[in-house]
Amino acid sequence: MMLKLAGKTNVKSKSAFPVCDMMVGSDMLLIAGPCSVESEEQIFAIAEQVKSGGANMLRGGAYKPRTSPYSFQGLGRKGLEFLKAAGKKVGMPVVSEVVDTRAVFLACEDVDVIQIGARNMQNYELLKEAGRTDKPILLKRGLHASIEEWLNCAEYIMNEGNERVILCERGIRTMETYTRNTLDLSAVAAVRELSHLPVITDPSHGTGRPSLIGPMCLSSIMAGSDGCILEVHYAPELALSDGDQALLPEQFAAIASQMKKLWMFRQSLVEE
Ligand code: PEP
Ligand code: MN
Repeated sequence: MMLKLAGKTNVKSKSAFPVCDMMVGSDMLLIAGPCSVESEEQIFAIAEQVKSGGANMLRGGAYKPRTSPYSFQGLGRKGLEFLKAAGKKVGMPVVSEVVDTRAVFLACEDVDVIQIGARNMQNYELLKEAGRTDKPILLKRGLHASIEEWLNCAEYIMNEGNERVILCERGIRTMETYTRNTLDLSAVAAVRELSHLPVITDPSHGTGRPSLIGPMCLSSIMAGSDGCILEVHYAPELALSDGDQALLPEQFAAIASQMKKLWMFRQSLVEE
């Protein structure tokens, strides 16, 4: 594997870098929020709920890559503005997905972290554009991407000068149908072996089932993950996207508190 920047050739130990006032890679990253920003009221309410539940970053999609063109496509720029304002109100940095190169620099005005979604992992022009920004990039693993392909995508971003990449394992497609995707926890351990970059997991998309999210969050911490990104909604049945996998705010808070305990336990076990 030719990973000059993402690999361990030059940087031997795990890297950590600041995102606002947190050190990703050494502090546990807990990103939470709705799949989509649906309205100003919705994102403000969920921002308060996840903040008090223990999140340290707010998520919310404004440009949604949906399977059907007839499904809700997101609020676009307005959504980013609402997200930014909600993050500011509760004092949390915000992350949101961009789906095309033209939106990258505009999005930088509103978000603290740029997300590149699974469907765009190998959109090389998008990766290069993200690499020219000064924002950390949350790079999700593609639905069918090998670990090597995924790490090479991080390399694309870093090769443009942006070294702040956070990898995100969000489940891959397998023959299994009970779960929405198969959350590949061995990929987390493999990334820790092959790369110095921080890596988190997305058990929401990784399982598609609220009941499985808690166990997968805890397991991913033990696999070496630096945190999780989770979808939370106060009324999943009314959500405009991914309602079936949304956690209620109280479920999120219970998971967050278990994760924090496990994080401390892991620190007592491993020299990081
Ligand atoms: C999302 O985070 O809402 C999303 C669309 O994720 P993914 O790209 O992993 O499917
Ligand atoms: Mn989603």
